[in-house]
Amino acid sequence: MANRYYIDQRVRLSSEGPTQVTLRGSVAHHLIHVMRVKTGAHVVLFDGSGAEFSSQVGRVGRSDVELTVLQRNVIDRELPRRVALAVSLPKGDRQRWLVEKAVELGVAEVIPLATSRSVAQPVQQALDRLRRAVIEASKQCGRNRLMAIAEPVAWSDFIEATRNEPQRLLAHPPSVSPPGTRHRHDGFPEPAGRIVVAVGPEGGLATEEVALATEAHWRLVALGPRILRTETAALVMVALANAR
Ligand code: SAH
Repeated sequence: MANRYYIDQRVRLSSEGPTQVTLRGSVAHHLIHVMRVKTGAHVVLFDGSGAEFSSQVGRVGRSDVELTVLQRNVIDRELPRRVALAVSLPKGDRQRWLVEKAVELGVAEVIPLATSRSVAQPVQQALDRLRRAVIEASKQCGRNRLMAIAEPVAWSDFIEATRNEPQRLLAHPPSVSPPGTRHRHDGFPEPAGRIVVAVGPEGGLATEEVALATEAHWRLVALGPRILRTETAALVMVALANAR
């Protein structure tokens, strides 16, 4: 999806005629210096509210671009159910990669988990970087609502906070489960309604952490006899949640 640009303010169309908006900062820079946009060109803006706006470029300044918003189109490219992905984020590039894929697959919210073996707790700067990655991925895949990146939450608080969620599925490798652990080997969740899926860190969840979840009636999901990386397991869980 080419020519989509994110505007970090809500666009309101007035009934009294065309609405003017001004893009500044990195979006304007990209339009002016990378896309070399000219007066009269058509671009699509999205503001994260669920709509996109067909717009025409007016004045092109040195660091800002004025546009006339012509039409508001509500185009829903969201999943039929709300999927939240709670995950102990992997390190470095794989973190950004996971966020990008989660946007593409329609996840509503990523909740970074702090577990006893989590590698990196994203600090504010890293969270900001991930939120920028959400915008980039949304430009590309056509989503008009931004996937939320929540503040990191400790495992026990997370289990407590999700107590009333109707469907909670934790990916847990069968090879590391204590004997007698009940897994859902079919893997499939209920076909409708909100769902929260959770995935542990590279080092795995501690036995007590898994116990906390099963005591709160989380269902454990086995994804086969191989150990998947956190980001692989996360995407498989999201795909399972969307499979029907
Ligand atoms: N050595 C770790 C493996 C962690 S893999 C351990 O002892 O658990 C990172 C996360 O991916 C796990 O916490 C789990 O949530 C998920 N995962 C990886 N492979 C999986 C599998 N085969 N089935 C279910 N979940 C899996």
